[in-house]
Amino acid sequence: MKIIMYDTHQHERPYAQIWAQAHHQKLTMVEEPLTMETVHLAEGYDGLSVQQTIQIDNDIYPILANYGINHISTRTAGFDNFDLAVAKQHGITITNIPSYSPRAIAEMGLTQAMYLLRNIGRFHEQMDQNHDFTWSGNLISNEIYRCTVGLIGTGRIGTATAQIYKALGARVLAYDPRYHPELEPFVEFVDRDTILRQADIITLHTPLTPQTKNMIGAAELRVMKPTAILINVARGGLVDTQALIKALQDHEIAGAGLDTLANEQNLFGHQVSPDQIPEDYKILRAMPNVIITPHVAFLTQTAVQNLVQISLDDTVKLAQGQRTNHAVN
Ligand code: NAD
Repeated sequence: MKIIMYDTHQHERPYAQIWAQAHHQKLTMVEEPLTMETVHLAEGYDGLSVQQTIQIDNDIYPILANYGINHISTRTAGFDNFDLAVAKQHGITITNIPSYSPRAIAEMGLTQAMYLLRNIGRFHEQMDQNHDFTWSGNLISNEIYRCTVGLIGTGRIGTATAQIYKALGARVLAYDPRYHPELEPFVEFVDRDTILRQADIITLHTPLTPQTKNMIGAAELRVMKPTAILINVARGGLVDTQALIKALQDHEIAGAGLDTLANEQNLFGHQVSPDQIPEDYKILRAMPNVIITPHVAFLTQTAVQNLVQISLDDTVKLAQGQRTNHAVN
């Protein structure tokens, strides 16, 4: 079987090569995304895998159907860049990877929280700007086992996050409209307001929907403790960025860890010129009590291996007319 993998990143290649050898498949990796300009590369192949957030042109589906390809496997959890109905009309099944390593995302949230809890950004600022290596009493930290951690969203990643904080001895509160009884040993289920008011670390793990968009805005930030740390490794749009900047400037909360930003689409994952960097990113990045990572919580060996290998497994199954659990249309 011949498979083409679009938008291949360097970090994916070793896992893809291991998979191709183990499964005796012919695999071609290209760096370009799947577009009208590159779709011709798929001619003669039995299946294809993509990994892109840019929209898939609707004219691509009939071209693939014409090549005899009946599916696209995306090496992502998200699939909002596909028109699922149009793909279906042309007999193209889309598959995604809903879960590839919840622990990877949870650990990034913890990493950011610990960086902020121990005031590392503020110590760096002191050392770098003022040659000040003193042990400032202002920067005395709490210890994690004395913290209350508030989870908003207790799905796959929220659950992994709860387990980690519980193992570290923290008190873990959680809010989710869907009750997860299996989490009872790790968390106390409370209402959202209790989390906002009581938590030292508030960590978001919900999908971005019209209901959750800007779920953390000025009103929510105002009721948090002035010592609270906000962690968003879920989706940027969950937080009203302007309200967050103001809350940090007004010392309404103590810090923020962000692996996602509302307007990250043309920034994270890209090489850009200075004039393309959004103003809100620059303001946040300059704050010593903010840590930003460019949507890399997933970038671990386990997660990338799973993304590549599950996608290629699905590609083979669908090309052979078998079922997968990951079809989304
Ligand atoms: P999931 O579907 O397993 O869990 C989401 C949970 O959120 C569900 O239990 C749901 O009931 C709950 N929820 C929905 N609306 C809510 C609300 N208003 N308040 C509280 N809880 C609510 O999802 P997941 O796999 O755990 O993913 C969580 C988030 O992490 C998603 O936004 C996902 O896109 C993001 N994510 C980020 C990265 C990254 O690299 N930074 C990687 C993967 C996923």
